[in-house]
Amino acid sequence: MVTKLAKADDNILGEAAELLKNGGIAAIPTETVYGLAANAYDVEAVRSVFRAKGRPQDNPLILHISSPEMLNDIAESVPPLAMTLAESFWAGPLTMIFRRKPHVPAETCGGLDTAAVRMPRHPFTLKLIERCGFPIAAPSANTSGLPSPTSAAHVYDDMNGKIPLIIDGGECRYGVESTVICFVNGDTVRILRPGAVTPEMLREYCHVEIDSGVLEKLAPDAKVLSPGMKYKHYSPAAEVYILKGDDGAAEAFLRTLDGGKPGFLGFGGETLPESVTRFPYGSTPEQQAENLFASLRSADAAGCTEVYVRMPETEGMGLAVYNRLLRAAGFRIIDAEGDGNALRG
Ligand code: AMP
Ligand code: MG
Repeated sequence: MVTKLAKADDNILGEAAELLKNGGIAAIPTETVYGLAANAYDVEAVRSVFRAKGRPQDNPLILHISSPEMLNDIAESVPPLAMTLAESFWAGPLTMIFRRKPHVPAETCGGLDTAAVRMPRHPFTLKLIERCGFPIAAPSANTSGLPSPTSAAHVYDDMNGKIPLIIDGGECRYGVESTVICFVNGDTVRILRPGAVTPEMLREYCHVEIDSGVLEKLAPDAKVLSPGMKYKHYSPAAEVYILKGDDGAAEAFLRTLDGGKPGFLGFGGETLPESVTRFPYGSTPEQQAENLFASLRSADAAGCTEVYVRMPETEGMGLAVYNRLLRAAGFRIIDAEGDGNALRG
């Protein structure tokens, strides 16, 4: 299959809408990461998305809508707190989980009786959903397991020859996927996946619980609320390690490396041995979120065998960065603090 790359403008809008209406799939820009779009109500189209990504069938897709009113077609009922959060955070990177109406296909929702819904902020994608008139189901547009794509070029690397159309809407503003929440009761939500809508922001409106799966490895037999949490995720081919400790400890650890081709994502002030290649990361959680996936992909392109990433803060957007990094690293943390004896956990 020939994959067409097109700029996100009014010229391609009609063609993209026709493609999706006819059961086709296309990569689309959003403010979080690029998505692989299909008509959420078309089971065959949704199956093509799972196939193109190599995604496990029980990992549900998020339904993207262009107005809060569209929620009524999908959700069995919408709690008042959901309306409040929609008013505050939509269009934006907040996904909310509801019991789904029977006409919403189980295939779209990974076989669950719930549906995850969000209204994205990218103007092209909002227009596209409006034009289509149905919710667009879209997971991240990467091959399952690899780092999520934050540019059209990343999508092309994974999806060339597998999908007919990639729409280039520029680099993603946030660089990590949306915050996913479910409702525990009328005034409490639980974060299943952290994102740019932070716990601190949600606490202005309600009580916030953080699911243990956000920062902990799930037991193999654990009952999961959000099936995406089960899989090793966001991983480049290089082995990723989280490096805990201050600048000095990180520098001392990197000097002990011998052989291989190490890559490094740091805060900026570190002095590196010549053998270590630096990739963009940053000193704030917002910069780190923007750079993390792109830099993991760059490390692979540069032929790195291992990538060491400084441990981010776990507050605010840092929680989202740390959550993705833990999975990319398969929960391996090197404590570089102390007498220089680094332990690979
Ligand atoms: P992605 O599309 O790659 O950002 O992944 C979407 C993620 O949203 C999934 O991996 C799940 O973790 C989560 N999700 C989607 N639908 C549901 C649902 N009905 N219940 C719980 N989590 C969901
Ligand atoms: Mg994904």
